[in-house]
Amino acid sequence: MRCPYCNEEMICGAVQSQREIFFTTRADRTWLIPALAKKDEIVLSSHNWSKPTCIAYHCPACRKVIIDYSVKSE
Ligand SMILES: [Zn+2]
Repeated sequence: MRCPYCNEEMICGAVQSQREIFFTTRADRTWLIPALAKKDEIVLSSHNWSKPTCIAYHCPACRKVIIDYSVKSE
């Protein structure tokens, strides 16, 4: 994948966490009420019970990471 900022080739890798990784417009939401937050979230990671992982691309020059959540890690 080419970086949309500088057009250089990006490094393919992964973003990982101990918990599922999701996009939300409510960054202030608390983990104490997870059931209320789900409808505003997009889950980006797969393997959420063992090793939450997102396929991602990194551009070190622009310091950007792009997550392609249409692709699930193996
Ligand atoms: Zn770049």
